[in-house]
This record gives sequence, C-alpha cells and structure tokens, in this order.
Amino acid sequence: MKILLVLVLVLSFCLILPVLAVTESTAASTATVNKYKENAFNFDHQAITKVACEFWSLSEERTKNIMLGSRMPDIYQRGLSHLFNQQWSHGLLYGKNRTWRWGDANEDFHDNLLGTKGIDQNRNSSPEDETENLFHEGWNNGSADQFYLKDDQTTGDWYLGYASHFIEDVTIPPHTTSPFPGRLDILYHHASFEVWLTNNLEKGHRLIDAAALDNEYYIVTDPSEDLKRAAWNSCYWNEEGYGKEVWDNYVSDGYPTKENSGSPELVKNAKNMITEAVRWSRGTIKWGLDQYNQWTDQQK
Ligand SMILES: [Zn+2]
Repeated sequence: MKILLVLVLVLSFCLILPVLAVTESTAASTATVNKYKENAFNFDHQAITKVACEFWSLSEERTKNIMLGSRMPDIYQRGLSHLFNQQWSHGLLYGKNRTWRWGDANEDFHDNLLGTKGIDQNRNSSPEDETENLFHEGWNNGSADQFYLKDDQTTGDWYLGYASHFIEDVTIPPHTTSPFPGRLDILYHHASFEVWLTNNLEKGHRLIDAAALDNEYYIVTDPSEDLKRAAWNSCYWNEEGYGKEVWDNYVSDGYPTKENSGSPELVKNAKNMITEAVRWSRGTIKWGLDQYNQWTDQQK
C-alpha cells in the first residue's frame, strides 16, 4: 500500500510539473542543467532576499548580485542526468510524525554553501568527471565557500543567494507537506498558492512589509539540519508549526489567487510565513559572511 502511495505521488509530480523542464547543455561547462520557463507562480525569491540583504546593510551592488543568485534555481538547475529535478530539489516533504516522503532541498542548500572538497585551485574543466563530485548538487559543481576562499567575493555572494533559495522555498507549506493522507489539494493548489503569494508580496496585501519590519533572524550552524528544521516548521502535519494554519485559511478562503484577495486571517498567517522566509534568508547570509570573513566589501 505504501509503495502504491509513493508511486502515485511520484507520478503526480512527474506528469504535472516537468512539462516545464527541458534539458540543456551549457557551452561553458559539461554540466547538464534543467531550464525552466519563467512562471507567474514562481515564488518571488528576489523580494525575500532583498529584505534579508537590507537587514545586514549590504551595498546595493552586493544585494543585487545575491538577489540574482536567489532567482536562479527556478531558471536553471543541474541536471536531469543526475536524476535531480525541480520538484525534487526544491522540496522536502514530510508526512505525519516528521516522516520524510520526498525531496532533498537540504542537500541543494548544503552543497551550494559548502563544496565537498572546499577550495580546489586545480579543478579541471570537467569537474563532473571526478566521481566523488558526481552527486554534488551545487550549481555547476561550485559552492560559496570555494569562491570566498579564493577571494572571489562576487561569485561567493552569488552562491549564497543561490543557496538561500532552497531554505526560502521550504518555509512554504506546499514545499514541505506530503499530500498523503488526505491533503492532495496541497499538491494541486501549489501553483495557485504561489500566484496568490506573488500577487500579494510586493503589491496587494504587501506581505513583505511585515517581514521588513521584523528584527530577527535564525542562526544557521549546520546547513542541512537547519533546512530540515525550517521545513518541518512549515509542514502542514506539524501540530506546532505555522503551515497548518496558513493552509487551512487558504482552503477555507477557496484557494484565492488575486491581488488583495483572502481573509484577514490568511493575510495575518501568510505575513508570519513570509517573515519566516526572510529570517532564514538573513541567517544564511550571516552564516556565509561570518564563516568566510566577507562583511567588508572587496575592493575591485
Ligand atoms: Zn524553488
């Protein structure tokens, strides 16, 4: 029975969403990436990341660069050839009692921050040939640490943004909640929920404003474990998390999508959710800048 459920889940993901993905090889490297169309329902990571950077008073130039990194996983991601795809990489779905069901966003988060081998000045042009890196999920087999350690602050910052994407994603219940048992709507209304978010993040209800006024951040110490914690906090099946309230509000409001739609209850809980995303993003940025001593802008 369990196998059947997993099969249905896998098929649902495989049938509905990967129509968006095509495989493409880049000339610059041997990495195979998945390319996605820009979709209206993509959660706006740049808005979240911007507020996180502003909290640390980073320069406009660095902020923009980190923001661009944070958007990238929704456009390009390493590769179908490694059996990664967007639905797998951008989610960490738990069932009841924190039982893992799907996804490995924690590994993408970790691998874009920390390389398997750290700095390697002598990396050849096809790092994927190195078997030990075959399952490294960092963009183009790189990671923030590699570039910071090479004193390439710009690329290190970009990776920090790229990594932040994954922890921001798992603050949203559809990215962390197994549709079973009895919550299939969280799968089928995932897209409409993100449309509603996009329509109410920097316009409509302006959910982002609450997060910008908030003064806290979460401390990141162990990237993979911290992402799992963030994911469980937003999971519908966690009685102590915030995901259940958000999703129950969204359901009783009839799955709204439009600007300014949704009840005050939904808006209140969604503001809380967006604040969670920003706090984790702040924590990720602080982790990178502390760890690699990157608070001061590099002189060019
Ligand atoms: Zn994503």
